[in-house]
Formats: sequence, C-alpha cells, structure tokens
Amino acid sequence: MSVKEYREKRDFTRTPEPPPQAGPGAGPLLFVVQKHAARRLHYDLRLEVDGVLKSWAVPGGPSLDPSVKRLAVMVEDHPLDYASFEGIIPEGEYGAGQVIVWDSGDYSPSAEGRLLFADRDAAQAAVREGLARGKLSFVLRGWKLKGSWALVKMKRGDNNWLLIKHQDDFAGTSRDVLAEGESVLSGRTVDDLKADTPAVRKSS
Ligand code: MN
Repeated sequence: MSVKEYREKRDFTRTPEPPPQAGPGAGPLLFVVQKHAARRLHYDLRLEVDGVLKSWAVPGGPSLDPSVKRLAVMVEDHPLDYASFEGIIPEGEYGAGQVIVWDSGDYSPSAEGRLLFADRDAAQAAVREGLARGKLSFVLRGWKLKGSWALVKMKRGDNNWLLIKHQDDFAGTSRDVLAEGESVLSGRTVDDLKADTPAVRKSS
C-alpha cells in the first residue's frame, strides 16, 4: 500500500493527478474526502500520516448514523499533494472520471478521549499504532464531517475496513450529508465537472 504503487499505476504525462513528492507537513494532520465518479461512484477517505495519505475507497460514502457501518477498502497510499486534487482523470487512465474535494480539514486520533491536534509526532505514532492494530478512532474537523469516527479492520479480506460514526453531537439520522454534493474547494459538483469532460474520441 505504498506511494510507489500509486506512482506505478499512473502516467503523470497524461493524468492531471500530482506525482508523489517528499516533504513533511506542519500543524495538525490533514484529512480529505474526495468524491470520485469513476466507473463506480465512491468516496475516497484519506488520512495524513508519515508524509503520505493513507487511503480507503468507501463505495457508500460516509454516514452520520452510528448504526451504519460503511465498507472502506484500503487502497494504495497517495502523496500529500493529492489532498487538493480536483479535476478530470482522462478516459483510459487509472481511475478515469471526475474528482472533487468533497470535504477536508484536520483530524486527530483519539485514545480514551485524548486528542492530539497539537502534537503531530504523538498523533502520527497513535495513527500508526491504530492502523497496525486494525482499529483507529479519530476526530474529524472538516467542513461537512465532524466529531468522532472509527475505522475497524474486518477479519475477512486483507484490505477491508468499516467506517463507523461514533455517537456524539455530530451523529444523527436527520442530515443526509451525501446530499451536500459541492466541493469545499470550488463549490462545483461532479456533474459540473462531467459537463466539462471532453467526449471520448471514437475510433472508427
Ligand atoms: Mn477513487
């Protein structure tokens, strides 16, 4: 699940996605959720740790209802720069389709309610440990997603996790967060991007 795999899958002379770059960040760890209208629409949850974005594809998207467990399939690490990527991956390229930054913000792992927004090193160590253990509790401070969440590794399937909202002030069943379809960067929707997508040239 390394960023090497990310590089190998893509032709950076053809896709507008960023090539991997080194360089540590500063401040709290960032998270992003991209809405990706690939062959199948899904949401990509990405959590910064150790200079990369740990990534999960969530077909059903996040739910604010704590009784809903959403499958989250771990995919290859993405470079940090990917967090601001929004655009059209051309037909024929890996993950072809439209991508918007559906939500973003910062996050902290939480251990017995202790939050580490102000201690980057401790936060990364706790995330590393949680991922190795197969259970990571964390707090999101995004535009759309807030409060306490968990990623729990399933026993079956090496890369299958569940994304679960914990019960808190931000949990509930009344708000359909997926109906909030605009990019937090540009205000655009994937349908707006589809309108810009060049038609595939048909070979005769
Ligand atoms: Mn994706």
